[in-house]
Amino acid sequence: MKVGKFPEGMDPIEAKKKVGVFLKSIQQDSKPEKCILCGQNKTSFCNSHSVPRMCLKNIAVNGKVLQANGLIGADVIDVEKGINNSGTFHFICNECDNKVFQDYENPDTWTEVAPTDKVLAQIALKDVLLMLSKRNMETLLWQRAAEKGNIGGMDYMKMVQELDIRDFTDEMELYKGITTDTKEQFKVIFYEKLTYVVPIATQTTFVLDEDLEGNLINDIYDTSKDVRIQSLHVSILPLEDSTVVILFYHRRDKNYRRFHHQFNCLSYDKKLEYINYWIFKYTENYFFSPTIKNILDEDEKLQLLSQENNGVGNLGYVLGPEDLFYECVKSDEVTNLLTRQFSL
Ligand SMILES: [Zn+2]
Repeated sequence: MKVGKFPEGMDPIEAKKKVGVFLKSIQQDSKPEKCILCGQNKTSFCNSHSVPRMCLKNIAVNGKVLQANGLIGADVIDVEKGINNSGTFHFICNECDNKVFQDYENPDTWTEVAPTDKVLAQIALKDVLLMLSKRNMETLLWQRAAEKGNIGGMDYMKMVQELDIRDFTDEMELYKGITTDTKEQFKVIFYEKLTYVVPIATQTTFVLDEDLEGNLINDIYDTSKDVRIQSLHVSILPLEDSTVVILFYHRRDKNYRRFHHQFNCLSYDKKLEYINYWIFKYTENYFFSPTIKNILDEDEKLQLLSQENNGVGNLGYVLGPEDLFYECVKSDEVTNLLTRQFSL
């Protein structure tokens, strides 16, 4: 059996409904009482987009985009969804959502020149809010699952989640404090405004465990309390007739310095190749234009890559001997959706 697939004999529509009801209840019950940004008590929260709606709109067909789980192979969740419900979270109030993210959700912000710290801080803040909202839901999800039966490794999971929440909260406070007057906070590794529209949109934070020469950047297995995992931020923002590609980190995350130099030495094509590769290898908050469904269906390497987790295939679950001897997919083996060839 594949993880995320329906067991044989199960009615997929019935199962999807059940999963839907369960996830909805988790979403409802994990709703915070206060807006995490302004601290005010709230009863309703904003339907915040992790990838700006204005970007999803540019790759949608009839208002719909394809979700990452279509590629990852998790049948239990809908593959095609309206842009109103794609990559959204409910964690901050409407006032904050309208106020805090104004600049980067404005197409005029994106010129040939890399954006200011203020704009980058808005992206980074959105990224950590999404992660905090996810961890918050996962904590409840694990709790509910544990109530239903015996699950191994619960204590470990709990500890990792708590450390994650601590680190993301710390990052949130850092990015909140960045304003127009703050200078030289972020290191932009790559910024490019492509002159075509790519069929994929993403915005997320992720962690590189090693650099391009195999040196350690983050020891993701070290769970000691004094270790802070350092993250990168990546955005692919399709605009009306162009696409913004941006990769950056905060300057306090010094572990990325050497990697930054290595990346600078790559050719332009290789840079795009790696960014495309990391999105599938390390992240899950990406959306496709339905027009490239055939490419996703046919590229088996891309499917395998999207299912990798910590160097293991099948979402990191070792279900059989073939998973133990899994060989990781390489960056030049998958379709590079950021090249002009696949533009819309
Ligand atoms: Zn608020």
